Amino acid sequence: MSHQRTLQAAAACEGIGLHTGQTVRMCLRPAAANFGVAFKRIDLPASPIIEANPANIVDAHHATTIGKGGVKVRTIEHLMAAFAGMGLDNVLVELNGEEVPIMDGSAAPFVELIKKAGLRRQMVPRTYLKIKERLVVEADRRSIQIVPSERLQVIYTMRFDHPLLGEQSAAFDISKETFISEIASCRTFGFVKDVEELRRRNFALGGSFDNAVVIGEGGVLNGDLRFRDELVRHKVLDLLGDLYLLGRPVLGTVIAHSAGHLLHTRLVQEIQRQLDIQHAAPARNGVIERWARPLLQPERSLKVAPS
Ligand SMILES: [Zn+2]
Repeated sequence: MSHQRTLQAAAACEGIGLHTGQTVRMCLRPAAANFGVAFKRIDLPASPIIEANPANIVDAHHATTIGKGGVKVRTIEHLMAAFAGMGLDNVLVELNGEEVPIMDGSAAPFVELIKKAGLRRQMVPRTYLKIKERLVVEADRRSIQIVPSERLQVIYTMRFDHPLLGEQSAAFDISKETFISEIASCRTFGFVKDVEELRRRNFALGGSFDNAVVIGEGGVLNGDLRFRDELVRHKVLDLLGDLYLLGRPVLGTVIAHSAGHLLHTRLVQEIQRQLDIQHAAPARNGVIERWARPLLQPERSLKVAPS
């Protein structure tokens, strides 16, 4: 995992936006080493580009939105999670609308798209962010923290205000394999009472039984869950997508309690703030280190097979 990767070829899909209800065509294109992840609004004059980075986060209510110069791209988190989970460093995302298609509400369709395009190794080392000291963000009774560890781990607990759900926890050692088999297919979810409220306020215009787990008073209204704890696993998926706004993999253990995009993105901004402080004063012994390779996960294979 120590070299950067991009796509072998372009790959496209089309779908409805969860919040806008608009049909959007999305094309993932290969990009040069050190390019990172960026979104291009090809429906607008001059096709503006918005880089996926902490400085461009403009909203994190309900979903993660980035923007620059008044131009936005909404609901990027599931696609970003697929990039993080598949180890895709450099990609240009072209969209002919404002929102990433919601597809089935999970990251699985994006994983399939990346597999279809194939991955290609680039001759530039990937850097990692290794957390050296604990960072905490809290609000009300919700919290998220990251503590030092040699690999990325997530421990996520959600307390749901619903008699059938109660508390759910999930803990994962994040690797490409775990991401694909345990996390990628977990769908976003909504409670009937909230969905009605969101619709009244024109959020979730594209929400339907096809792109979210919908929960009523008596339980799930649209079929079986993909995992018994699919809801909290989806929160892990959201977190991985938001963390990837840092532009490189993070080595640390994230512990989240009833968090969401707002706290995820505040943690991301705090990590970036620490990096900026260190950059401004290089002699300072900072709380984050940049590593050209992870301590564990040594490189074994030279090839990435599009499986
Ligand atoms: Zn989500």
